[in-house]
Amino acid sequence: MKKSEKQEQPHGGWPCLEFRNVWYRYGTDLAVQDVTFQVEHGEIAAILGPNGSGKTTLLKLALGLMHPSQGQVLLFGQSAERFRHWGRIGYVPQRVEAAQGDYPATAYEVVSQGTYRGPDPLAFFRSKDRSKILDALETVGLSDLKSRRISTMSVGQRQRVLLARALVRQPDLLVLDEPVAGVDAAAEEQFYDLLRRLNKERSITVLMVTHDIGAVMREATTVACINRTVVYHGSPHAMSQKELSELYGIPMEVLLHDALHEHR
Ligand code: ADP
Repeated sequence: MKKSEKQEQPHGGWPCLEFRNVWYRYGTDLAVQDVTFQVEHGEIAAILGPNGSGKTTLLKLALGLMHPSQGQVLLFGQSAERFRHWGRIGYVPQRVEAAQGDYPATAYEVVSQGTYRGPDPLAFFRSKDRSKILDALETVGLSDLKSRRISTMSVGQRQRVLLARALVRQPDLLVLDEPVAGVDAAAEEQFYDLLRRLNKERSITVLMVTHDIGAVMREATTVACINRTVVYHGSPHAMSQKELSELYGIPMEVLLHDALHEHR
């Protein structure tokens, strides 16, 4: 990984993202109920919960795509509704068409989407964007494949292309939605290794949304367990068996067996 232009900052302390007593309703259906927690600088944080528990809704609220029915979402101390510095946040989506591979573009072209800042008549002349794109591809280990169509790549490689796209604007916070869904064990390990290095060497705070308890146990420094409301927030290793069983509604032994042996 290339040395970052950013100064290394001490981990911990100030919040990148805060949910303050957030409620969200789709019409009359309550999806998020009085959620309060924060993601601090330097964390590898996870939002964990079963299907339908409100994870995607929280993600959309964090990205300013929707606004709370009640409460507040803050990004770097500013209300998400008024936040304008979107270059500080890199987003890696889950299994979009590009990730599925039926998208007629090269790795370079997909990563170049990350430089988009709105309509720009001078875009053609912005050669420094080219070096940022190449840097991002190098960071994820795909320099040699930059001219390759992503339709010919493995799922793991495509996922790294999307990570590179999120890194182009040198974000402070990376938000990932089920980042390794459908990726094989070796590629998953490589992907998480990359995330750990970005976190450590470039002080990028990571927030991933997942239902994969194993990944949370192995990779996350903090976890917010969600089932419409926050069931637990703290270190994944301090979670009680009872809390986890309640979250998923099945016995702990079954959960941990799946989580720890699924990919190993
Ligand atoms: P998760 O990502 O954990 O699976 P979601 O945030 O997608 O959960 O959904 C939380 C709840 O909100 C679910 O009950 C879901 O059915 C409901 N929901 C999600 N999106 C919509 C929508 N667009 N309209 C109505 N209800 C929705």
